[in-house]
Amino acid sequence: MSTLFIADLHLDEARPRITELFERFLISDEARSARAFYILGDLVEAWIGDDDDAELPTRIAHATRALHDAGVPVYFMAGNRDFLLGHAFAERAGMTLLDDGTVHDVEGTPTLLMHGDVLCTDDVEYQAVRAQVRTDAWKRQILSMPLEARRAFAAKARSDSKSRTGRIDETIMDVNQGAVESAMRDAGVHRLVHGHTHRPAVHDFALDGVAAQRIVLGDWYDHGSVLRIDGDVVELRGLTLP
Ligand code: MN
Repeated sequence: MSTLFIADLHLDEARPRITELFERFLISDEARSARAFYILGDLVEAWIGDDDDAELPTRIAHATRALHDAGVPVYFMAGNRDFLLGHAFAERAGMTLLDDGTVHDVEGTPTLLMHGDVLCTDDVEYQAVRAQVRTDAWKRQILSMPLEARRAFAAKARSDSKSRTGRIDETIMDVNQGAVESAMRDAGVHRLVHGHTHRPAVHDFALDGVAAQRIVLGDWYDHGSVLRIDGDVVELRGLTLP
């Protein structure tokens, strides 16, 4: 049995083949026989509320619910694109919500699970925006808007984000090693799994003199990306588009 992790799918009506790949992966023997299935944020490009009546959320809920019903625990941690995803949708989708920074025993190893954006501490501008939009007051305000207004808001946030990503130094977008080490130290772990940076890799390093590992999940743009941990085996691999 193995434990599977995905993140940063950025599912979007504009990229139907990625949604199809996601659906196919969730009905694969590999997924159906997993011990647990983790989605570590940015499952969708934009989440405007659990009351969204578009087709995509329904397809997602159908896929994750079926995996859950097949006996596989499905965990979801919000990313910066889908932090408005709440209990109502999670329930519908058969997913258990996890707080960013949760520690789970993964195949016998205590593992810190994060989306990854809080580790990008060099991006001061981003962290300021994050602090603002993650407050309950801000979320309530957004969710009280009519669906159409939220759709327009999400479209604008997306184009703003695109122009910003093109403008700033790429290295700022990566994690800060000091932030990584202090998060792992605080959690008392030597393994961290996160996404967000779209830089899939397995980083081995020493944390206070002990072997430590940071595993970064890949995004789903040109292909899919999955992390499989099976006992001592750590495999990070791509998934070919249908
Ligand atoms: Mn992200």
